[in-house]
Amino acid sequence: MPIHKLSPLVANQIAAGEVVERPASVVKELLENAIDAKADRIQIDIERGGTRLIRVTDNGEGISRDELELALARHATSKIEHSDDLKAIYTLGFRGEALASISSVAKLKLSSRPQAQDMGWSAIAEGLDMQVKLQPQSLPAGTIVEVRDLFFNTPARQKFLRAERTEFVHIEETVKRIALGSPHVAITLRHNSKVIKRVPAAHNHEQHQQRIGSILGASFLREAIKLDSSIESTRLYGWLSPVDWHQSSSLGQYVFVNGRAVRDRTLNHAIRQAYHDRLPAGRMPAYVLYLELEATQVDVNVHPTKHEVRFSNGRQVHDFMSRVVEEALLEQSDILENSHDG
Ligand code: ADP
Ligand code: MG
Repeated sequence: MPIHKLSPLVANQIAAGEVVERPASVVKELLENAIDAKADRIQIDIERGGTRLIRVTDNGEGISRDELELALARHATSKIEHSDDLKAIYTLGFRGEALASISSVAKLKLSSRPQAQDMGWSAIAEGLDMQVKLQPQSLPAGTIVEVRDLFFNTPARQKFLRAERTEFVHIEETVKRIALGSPHVAITLRHNSKVIKRVPAAHNHEQHQQRIGSILGASFLREAIKLDSSIESTRLYGWLSPVDWHQSSSLGQYVFVNGRAVRDRTLNHAIRQAYHDRLPAGRMPAYVLYLELEATQVDVNVHPTKHEVRFSNGRQVHDFMSRVVEEALLEQSDILENSHDG
């Protein structure tokens, strides 16, 4: 075969291979888009574990008619422009790939109405030839993305889909993560028309705390140690389980860096080190920690799923995190000892 350029469909499907592993990955991308569009109310409707339908409805800024088609194109984004912009990312998305990828492996309908316009429009892409059809539609302000029949044209991927129940568990986990990372957003999650989770918007610390309780459980919230510590422009705050917390799984370990859920080895190591020796064998801590630092100090352009980050000063971040967590644990055990004494 001579060398030739891949068709947009195939190129997008290759990209989709990296970001769209299962229905939950679609949910993640759509939620990130809604949050980047400054929505403060998001509704998620799932049918059959997301294999039949994933619909995300938001009340964000919306997309105008002339931009709908571009929104579905690969490497098209409203979030960055110049290469310098990559040095400080302020949004959850920036790669301009999610909608193009999703529409290459599913039947996607993107409907939107910006606040200032009185008519909405929808764009339909059926994952066949990347052709987009536009039609007018009456809509509330905001955006609705509907993704049907995921992997209908990629049988190899479809085979990896698990039972409806399993796929939905992954979706629930994704929604929890986003709900913890963006507490200011009200979220409703439905599965097969039944409300599974509903969290109101949290506008203050008290309400944020309620969200923690509603996602990690009342007993976690009751026992959790609160911490909040800053050094220069870096702040770490959140909730952690005390060393005598009874939990043997690793469920409920959440770390957010500037609002983005990450799985970072440096940070995980820092936390493990702080708990080290204090935790009985086989016990796992639970925590929700928010690390905030200047956008220029963290590189999120590491992996397509954006779960990994790189810090410009990893050592310093690690040691700060480890110290703050350790101090919180120590303080807690002092309080316990004193209360036993008294
Ligand atoms: P990225 O998020 O990396 O920019 P996407 O493919 O996810 O790439 O989205 C492409 C563009 O479509 C976004 O940059 C944004 O301008 C627009 N968009 C996508 N979803 C929404 C939404 N829910 N509300 C408003 N605009 C959206
Ligand atoms: Mg996006």
